[in-house]
Amino acid sequence: MSNNNSWQVLKFGGTSVSSRDNWNTIAAIIKRKRAKGKKVFVVHSAVSSVSNRLEALITLAQSGHYDEPYQELVSLHQRLLQEMELPAMLLDEQYAYLKRLLDGIHLLGEVSDRIRALVMSQGELWSTTIGQTYLNQQLEEPVNRLDARDFLVANEEYRVDYLCASCDFLQDDALIQTINATPVVITQGFIASTSEEETVLLGRGGSDSSAAYFAGKIAAERLEIWTDVPGIFTANPNHVNNARLLKQLNYDEAQEMASAGAKILHPRAIRPAQISNIPLYIRSTIEPGIAGTIINDVENRWGMVKAITAKENITLISMESQGMWQQPGFLADIFSIFKQHQVSVDLVSTSETNITVSLDNLTQVVSEKQIKNLSLDLSRMCRVNIMKNCSAVSIVGKNVRAILHKIAPAFSIFETYKVYLLSQAASDLNLTFVIDDEHCNKVITALHELLITNNPNSEILGPTAKELKQVEQADTGSKWWQDNKETISMCLAKRDSAYIYHLDSVRQNIHNLQSIDAVERIFFAVKSNNNPDVLQVAYDNEIGFETVSCGEVEHILNLFPTIDKSRIFFTPNFAARQEYQTILEKGIRLTLDSTYPIKEWPEIFSGKEVFLRVDPNIGKGHHENVRTAGATSKFGIPIYELEELKPIIEQYDIKVVGLHAHAGSGILTNEHWAEHARLLAETASIFPSVKYLNLGGGFGIKERAQQTELTMSQIDNTLQQVKAEYPHYELWIEPGRYISANTGVLVSRVTQVKQKQNYYYVGLSTGMNSLMRPALYGSYHNIVNLSRLDESKEHLATIVGPICESTDKLGVEIPFPETKEGDLVLIENAGAYGRVMATQYNMRSPAEEVCI
Ligand SMILES: *Cc1c(COP(=O)(O)O)cnc(C)c1O
Repeated sequence: MSNNNSWQVLKFGGTSVSSRDNWNTIAAIIKRKRAKGKKVFVVHSAVSSVSNRLEALITLAQSGHYDEPYQELVSLHQRLLQEMELPAMLLDEQYAYLKRLLDGIHLLGEVSDRIRALVMSQGELWSTTIGQTYLNQQLEEPVNRLDARDFLVANEEYRVDYLCASCDFLQDDALIQTINATPVVITQGFIASTSEEETVLLGRGGSDSSAAYFAGKIAAERLEIWTDVPGIFTANPNHVNNARLLKQLNYDEAQEMASAGAKILHPRAIRPAQISNIPLYIRSTIEPGIAGTIINDVENRWGMVKAITAKENITLISMESQGMWQQPGFLADIFSIFKQHQVSVDLVSTSETNITVSLDNLTQVVSEKQIKNLSLDLSRMCRVNIMKNCSAVSIVGKNVRAILHKIAPAFSIFETYKVYLLSQAASDLNLTFVIDDEHCNKVITALHELLITNNPNSEILGPTAKELKQVEQADTGSKWWQDNKETISMCLAKRDSAYIYHLDSVRQNIHNLQSIDAVERIFFAVKSNNNPDVLQVAYDNEIGFETVSCGEVEHILNLFPTIDKSRIFFTPNFAARQEYQTILEKGIRLTLDSTYPIKEWPEIFSGKEVFLRVDPNIGKGHHENVRTAGATSKFGIPIYELEELKPIIEQYDIKVVGLHAHAGSGILTNEHWAEHARLLAETASIFPSVKYLNLGGGFGIKERAQQTELTMSQIDNTLQQVKAEYPHYELWIEPGRYISANTGVLVSRVTQVKQKQNYYYVGLSTGMNSLMRPALYGSYHNIVNLSRLDESKEHLATIVGPICESTDKLGVEIPFPETKEGDLVLIENAGAYGRVMATQYNMRSPAEEVCI
């Protein structure tokens, strides 16, 4: 169905309606939706603990003493009214009605399901009154209060189940008509009515179902379930530390997880959304910036384990009988007894002599007495054994059967734990083991480790709960571009995209590095950023320049004609003979990263000072492996080849004054440079003329929330230790990224937005032609919509450029707000290896550079 309907159904649970702060959160969410032109249909629960209190009151009313707990229930609401500065008499009539109902129960000394449902419904009705009154004050438009019972009608095919009814959810034009004029609606979850206008309940947790029914009825464009957790995880994060947020689930998988015990969603809430094809979002009121889990009809191509769930505290009934296969209708007889006792079963496994079933404990509460009577009747046909305190642990994922071979190792854990029942769903969505409750957490943790933690490369696995907390913290820290938003917008007034560099940050980063006392000289790797103003900051702060081509050397000499040549260092790779000659003529130091130049052209280095670049991977492990390891990298000289150079060096009087090692980029281990220093110091004994050890660059920066920054004092400590052992060497470093990366951002204007199924594409006016790193080596950049920093991130966006290459993606799965053409999008940490790699590909000019 094409959906021009901009209604969104938002469901809020008990916690969300229990304090003024939380109602303010609800108001803020509604306002954001309204600002985007959405109509909002709020479905909510009763205030926390109220349903339990009502339940207790019903019991107490039958036996006599209910006055005090009734008063407590009233006080609880009165305190909330006071906190929210609402009229103290707001609920007086509703309190009185409850009192009359309780008095009635007391008088009769008993209660029917019909009356029980009516009493239980009061909690929701009261909180709607509170909500409507408060939101009317907070919003700029009136809030339309509906009584859910006027629109949700229980299915009555068999009989009315007053406590756990299900309802019809087909599109209801009369309801749409009723609400269309008032774009903010509030109503209760959990309650509905019969065709006779009697109140019924939808079962515990039934508010999710209410929301789903309403979403179907008003053909909402989406259904959002707001909870106090950020989404659905691969396992219960309270038990499994490594549990990851699932960014997306298919309806069937979500249904399976809910039925298998994942406590996020009521199992009945998914089917209505699925049938009406309404995407369902699980969001957190505590962390509204996180996109949460999206449940929709997108299917992953491959089979994959999505989650390990558990249903605890279940009861098994095992029934033994000889030769039951020979008896036609045996199973029918057995199950008819379950029907008589109104006990529904969940899992079933059969053998020639045994049937074992587990009792469904999600949608029904089975009493001890029921089980006893059931077992009595069953024992006329077979031998009955009841097992309590079991847990059903399920491995959930579409096509589990297809990946049985991969999960085989997981089964070894059942060597230690007894399995009472094993069942594989006919739907091919789960594999379930029933074990003792006490082993449940151990088994879940082990299965999760094997099947999910060790299989990390899926697009749909988000961060762990701990990482999410860090994201929140990281997001609160101020970044230079946040303080310069205005300036950035002004820079973009005349352009569609720009690299913006913050020179103060360049200065700051250099100062950080200069705090490493053990290091004598710092050379800035010019290849990471050759912008003249950035280089000027490096120059003014008295550091040197590490160059990799004659072009870079010329660039530096043009900018700083009077520079001391010892501040330039030349570290080429596979350069032509002429380049070495040119550089040496200028009196600039260089490093040789192969034995070839010395063996083939020794004369050009005669009497000159050179560095030798050592392959730092060498020296660990067996000789054979060493050669292989050395061979895969085109950089550096294997240590075992250094000796070969000695005769030539002596013959031509080549002065090896330094050794050099550079291992790669983005290193976040503080000890790394000390390891290089030690390796080089040990190696340097081959050449007595060595004075300098260049430890390379590769200083990483924090790009993701879960990363830990380098600590300069720590690096200094570890280097000081090496210096203490080898005091005669001067230590140098040559960082690029650390100095330039976080000083630059790429800002670009949104050209178009495209939604393809679940994929939300945000197109920018520039892409890989300006920033090639993501396409070249899958680098990660945090990306934000600068024009909508405060809006909630509802999408997982793919940020793309206009270049005709499918790799023209700057970011995938980036939490992003609803975005519009013309918005400014900012890509962080683009100051290093950004503009320097830009191309004219597609004849699209890359972003220009601006310094602020
Ligand atoms: C690129 C490079 C650097 C700088 O690397 P970063 O990761 O940017 O610090 C340092 N030394 C050499 C030899 C390089 O090639």
